[in-house]
Amino acid sequence: MSNVFTIGFYVNAVGEVSARLKFVATLAAVGLAIVLGVLDYLTGREWAISAFYLLPTCLAGWMAGRSAGLAVGALCAGVWFLSDVFGGPAYQHALIPVWNAIMLFVFFFVVVWLLTAFRSSHYYLEQTVERRTAALRAEIEERKRLEHAKRQAERLALVGAMAAKVAHEIRNPLGSVSLNLDLIGEELNILPNSDARSDECRVLLREMRSQVVRIHEVLQEYLRFGRMPKSERAALSLKGLLEEKLNFLQPLLDEKHVQLRKTFDPDLPPVHADPEQLWEAFLNLIRNAVEAMPDGGNLTINTKKNGTAALVYISDNGRGMTDEEARNLFVPFFTTKSDGTGLGLAHTQQIINEHGGKIDCTTSPGKGSTFAIQLPLAVEA
Ligand code: ADP
Ligand code: MG
Repeated sequence: MSNVFTIGFYVNAVGEVSARLKFVATLAAVGLAIVLGVLDYLTGREWAISAFYLLPTCLAGWMAGRSAGLAVGALCAGVWFLSDVFGGPAYQHALIPVWNAIMLFVFFFVVVWLLTAFRSSHYYLEQTVERRTAALRAEIEERKRLEHAKRQAERLALVGAMAAKVAHEIRNPLGSVSLNLDLIGEELNILPNSDARSDECRVLLREMRSQVVRIHEVLQEYLRFGRMPKSERAALSLKGLLEEKLNFLQPLLDEKHVQLRKTFDPDLPPVHADPEQLWEAFLNLIRNAVEAMPDGGNLTINTKKNGTAALVYISDNGRGMTDEEARNLFVPFFTTKSDGTGLGLAHTQQIINEHGGKIDCTTSPGKGSTFAIQLPLAVEA
């Protein structure tokens, strides 16, 4: 509420008056009407202040509404009548002051009616403007978001193409390195007696192999990111997809001491999505969640319906993120991990955007993070 006077006394942006202020304004109008009546009585017809009765009438009508305005108008006409009967000289006919009082009330009636009609149309207009402004603001926000998503997609496409090219160039030589390592391993195995030097060679070989595997994994991620396959979308049950895929993940979660809690809305209508791509997006989030809980913790996955969209929440109670981390979350190559590529979330966002959805994150350092994915439903239900 804007224009707050004190607690309970306010007029909001569109001119809505609080009940307390209405009461005070009516009281002030009644007081003013009585003061005018007394003044009228004391001065007789000399001052002819009848027109001033409009003040309390309009005050009550404007601030407290039509009924209050009419009531104060009736009071003013009554007060004027009494002061005229008791204070002024006699009329030619006894009914003249009554007639005058009625005329005065009719006049007040018309004024209050017009004033309150003007006020409510003004109020209605203000409300309409407010509503349209809010809708416009939301539309501008949505457009900004879409433009940002488009720019990001263009940037990602470029980065992806480059990454895929580099990854492709490295993959073949890496394959032959890997093959040669295998051959050396075999040679070492057929040496008659293992001595200290050959054992040392084996250790080095193992180390080299694990590094090659690591490079291979990074290359795979670059390639996945760079060459997003054409999506094949169809009506897809999120519950079915998650139940099926999470089953395969259970041994890994057990190994990492991560407890999975899931609540899937059974009545959630299907979404229009490519199951493999969507699972890749979810898997990236699940991987990050598990990595954020090195000593184990709770991974919570929920789904629910929200209007014409499905919502999927993936939460962990891991390390959470700093403001700086949260700001850079979806920026390609942003990573805080020594062995991270920083492509997981950028890729996830790319998939969700291409499905016409949205992804947001709320996080608290030391407490955990929640990723909310919104996807349009296949059939508007
Ligand atoms: P990567 O996992 O290779 O680092 P991502 O794009 O998947 O790349 O994630 C980028 C960064 O976002 C991570 O390095 C991490 O700092 C942060 N992050 C993502 N998910 C989480 C999470 N659930 N909890 C804490 N930090 C996260
Ligand atoms: Mg990741």
